[in-house]
Amino acid sequence: MKIAIIGSGIVGLSLAYDLSDKTNEVIVFEKEKDSLSHGTGRNSGVIHSGIYYIPNSLRSKLCIEGSKLMKDFILENNLYLKNCGKLLLPKKDIDLKTLEILYQRSKKLGINVKKLNSIDEIIKIEPNCNPIYKQALFIKDTSLGDPEEVSKKLIEILKNRNIEILYNHKVIKIFPQNGKLITNNDTFKFDIIINAAGLRADEIAKKSSLKTNYSSLPFKGKYWRVNFNNTKHMPKTLLYPIPNLEYPFLGIHTVYDKKGNFYLGPSNTPVFGRESYNFLHKFNFLEFLNLTFKFFKKIVFNENNLRNLALLEFKNLFLSHVKKTSNVYFKSKDNFSLEISSKVGIRSQIFDNKTKFLFDDFVLVKQDKVIHILNAISPAWTSSFAMAKYISKKYNLK
Ligand SMILES: Cc1cc2nc3c(=O)[nH]c(=O)nc-3n(C[C@H](O)[C@H](O)[C@H](O)COP(=O)(O)OP(=O)(O)OC[C@H]3O[C@@H](n4cnc5c(N)ncnc54)[C@H](O)[C@@H]3O)c2cc1C
Repeated sequence: MKIAIIGSGIVGLSLAYDLSDKTNEVIVFEKEKDSLSHGTGRNSGVIHSGIYYIPNSLRSKLCIEGSKLMKDFILENNLYLKNCGKLLLPKKDIDLKTLEILYQRSKKLGINVKKLNSIDEIIKIEPNCNPIYKQALFIKDTSLGDPEEVSKKLIEILKNRNIEILYNHKVIKIFPQNGKLITNNDTFKFDIIINAAGLRADEIAKKSSLKTNYSSLPFKGKYWRVNFNNTKHMPKTLLYPIPNLEYPFLGIHTVYDKKGNFYLGPSNTPVFGRESYNFLHKFNFLEFLNLTFKFFKKIVFNENNLRNLALLEFKNLFLSHVKKTSNVYFKSKDNFSLEISSKVGIRSQIFDNKTKFLFDDFVLVKQDKVIHILNAISPAWTSSFAMAKYISKKYNLK
């Protein structure tokens, strides 16, 4: 089979890795000059356990399976893996109820989670945190990887298999019935085209004349750099809040990388350009107008409580607020300082115009010779290898 993959983020690369065998000829199209310009090169690198997602949803299944596959790939290739575990720390009374829901869910899903019931137990796991409630959840199997290393290794393997990644090839039109694909450079024909264009997957769907009830809303995830006055104060276990299950975001948490950079983030503020990582970066006036209109309507009518979310998240743009609400993560506010960092990512979340809800799962749509992967939101990095296997099996691609 001749297969085109649009997008060389982690989803596109792991698909190419899974599908490239003797029977398939795979080509990857990428509009940028590299594979790390968007979601895959701008995330937290957390290999999630799957505790957050509704049982039996695609996110739940693929995250649990994907977490294992991602760790296997990392270990096989001697890449960075930190088995740090994660603590979920309540900050307010209502969190205790959610903590119990997540605990029961984890038991059902067979995820290794320990419920802690005293400050001593919590401190024993992470001496540098500052719990304010006696309860917490400890997820042993959460780990940290390095998304850049994983992508680079995949690219190397694909190169050895003679799989072409055509950089600077922007897909501008698809004819789903006959598999014709047009880029800014040339015209191609395929048996199958897979749309793995991340936060532009809905745009590709439009270029392929797919009609859906969805619109896509981008949210900016900004990180704050944490500078410790002594590295002994740095928490090694990842520290997360108890999430509001009404929203698909996890809340501001701690994260660090193999170089020792330590961050708090990401925020989730509405943004009016899908690639507006910095002010006016890749500014597109039409996109700005379109997104302003979409957000304005949803915020005015408070659809899916988006007004409340926007107000809540607006506060996360201020350093003083982030510092205040992160006090459970650090033993003393005198041990560290916060500063703005250049680390920022954007996640595009599908809004279902029929149900008026932010859609909370990965979405796959088959349209003639095209498979669209819509809403490849977090934890799509963790889930990528499992997602590739799932797509390959579901659509008989091997
Ligand atoms: C701030 C933040 C933190 C996150 N943290 C985590 C985490 O800790 N763990 C986790 O599992 N997930 C996390 N995620 C989610 C994860 O990063 C994404 O779900 C994942 O990277 C999506 O991969 P992708 O390949 O679909 O998208 P991308 O990496 O965005 O790749 C899509 C590619 O398609 C290309 N493209 C777009 N349009 C075209 C076109 N017309 N023609 C050709 N190419 C095109 C783009 O240039 C891009 O390179 C996070 C996301 C964000 C934003």
